Amino acid sequence: DVLTQKLQKLFTESQPNTLQVKDKISLEELKVAIANDEIVPFYQPQVAFTTKQVKSVEVLARWVHPERGTINPAAFISLAEESGMIDAITRSIFRQALPQSKELANILGRHLNISINLSTDSLCAIDLPEQIEDLANMHDIPCSSITLELTESRLIQNLISTLDVLLRLRLKGFGLSIDDFGTGYSSLEQLKKIPFTELKIDRQFICDATNNNTSKAIIESSVNLAKTLNMLVVAEGVETAADWDLAKSLQCDLAQGYLVSKPMPLDDLIIWLNDKQSW
Ligand code: C2E
Ligand code: CA
Ligand code: CA
Ligand code: CA
Repeated sequence: DVLTQKLQKLFTESQPNTLQVKDKISLEELKVAIANDEIVPFYQPQVAFTTKQVKSVEVLARWVHPERGTINPAAFISLAEESGMIDAITRSIFRQALPQSKELANILGRHLNISINLSTDSLCAIDLPEQIEDLANMHDIPCSSITLELTESRLIQNLISTLDVLLRLRLKGFGLSIDDFGTGYSSLEQLKKIPFTELKIDRQFICDATNNNTSKAIIESSVNLAKTLNMLVVAEGVETAADWDLAKSLQCDLAQGYLVSKPMPLDDLIIWLNDKQSW
């Protein structure tokens, strides 16, 4: 019944690790899940520190499993990456999230920015910029309201082959975000080559900056760097009011984290946004 399903969902969301470790996922199972659209977009809001207005949502994949409940990406993204199936997931996420984003724009009367995670694998497709542009056009979404998030540690390996794709994405107006900033090895070098529009400070710095001066200093210098380069700064993992106050005082632009909201499916996002256009 509905209540049991809701409780199961809540339990799964609060206990993602139990599921991941206990029941190992097979490649075959993952293939079927992708084909059946069991891997769906959830959305986590990003709000402006100054106005508390909701500016953007990050799309985070969830596997809504018919028996096991909702499975977090930690349990299947790396398997998908290692087995060459991440591109199928990315395509599926785009195919679902863009019409949903259009639906949202119709309801709100404005386009929220939508941020989508891209694995380096997807950047190997030379016509990726045209593919995403076509999809955006098809759903009447301006390219400038789509941001592509790239994890720096994964960019390093084949930077040269991906640079051309990234430059062309940027030329078409897509935003480019450097994700988990501060955790990779050559982030600074990549900043020099890739025209990023946004920098996301990894949550490991945000979560302990209130009592760790090193983390605080890393945030401060990341913000300085980003501002000099005209980039937007997103603070990830804002969980407490103290996190919020500190990241705000350090001039971060957008807050994303459990304090604002956990990632949620479209229907819940619509209700949530209705309640608080500004958070
Ligand atoms: P990410 O891109 O760094 O996404 C942020 C992660 O932090 C998400 O985990 C989000 O749920 C979580 N998070 C947000 N706010 C808080 C907070 O206040 N506290 C804590 N403890 N966590 C918070 P999630 O959804 O489990 O995703 C994990 C990673 O999986 C993502 O990290 C991203 O690297 C990858 N991923 C998710 N969806 C996709 C996708 O569609 N494609 C690809 N290629 N990777 C994806
Ligand atoms: Ca991300
Ligand atoms: Ca991140
Ligand atoms: Ca991450």
